[in-house]
Amino acid sequence: MNKIYVTISAAFLCIVFAQAQDKNYPTPPPMVPEMTEFWTPQPEIVTPADMDRLVPPPSDAIVLFDGQNTSEWEHNDGSAVKWDVADGAMTVKPKTGEIRTKKNFGDFQLHIEWRSPSVVKGTSQGRGNSGIFMQGKYELQVLDNYDNETYVNGQAGSIYKQSAPLVNPVQKPGKWNVYDVIYTAPRFKEDGSLESHGRITVLLNGVLIQNNTIILGTTEYIGLPKMVPHGDGPIVLQDHGDLVSFRNIWIREL
Ligand code: MG
Repeated sequence: MNKIYVTISAAFLCIVFAQAQDKNYPTPPPMVPEMTEFWTPQPEIVTPADMDRLVPPPSDAIVLFDGQNTSEWEHNDGSAVKWDVADGAMTVKPKTGEIRTKKNFGDFQLHIEWRSPSVVKGTSQGRGNSGIFMQGKYELQVLDNYDNETYVNGQAGSIYKQSAPLVNPVQKPGKWNVYDVIYTAPRFKEDGSLESHGRITVLLNGVLIQNNTIILGTTEYIGLPKMVPHGDGPIVLQDHGDLVSFRNIWIREL
């Protein structure tokens, strides 16, 4: 009986002590976007080979976009894709919202080509911004970084607000860029805790820019990445209000 009383008393004292301690802790300032934006060192500019030519997918790939058919995609409300499809590409139609694959994926190899608008306007994050989200949660940034500096962990080829690309091999606006992505999904235990981080390797125009990079958590514009347990998820293409185009999208499940 005494033992129980002592245990309960000790627990009560711990709670009181913790509350008293809480009152003495300083309140951290609210996070603002600039707190997770890093501008140096700027990745070296590399002139890539001209990859502005269509190479067909391998025989075992799932074709997600062949230049005409958007039936593998939908908006978040399940409606048909409203983006513009013309000349073998689909282009963001601002304010229609992001699109996602109807199918969910785990580990995969993804090939996707993107083009910044040939009419250059805006600076930093406001120029040719879109993005490709792995499992709907982790953004590989798409941005016109040709002669356009921005924070390095937000430039083309970054894992947005997490990892800067190793170098900057983007093509001029109006020319096609090629991403080849190898993605390993994070693993979670049954209780929802993390078993292993997600990993991503990315080549941009044939140049390695992410080398088995650890994905720290969800993509957040304000604040730090969060670890949220999840299963398979879609590929999501971002509507950031800029006329970014995509073509030749295929995926191989691993
Ligand atoms: Mg983006």
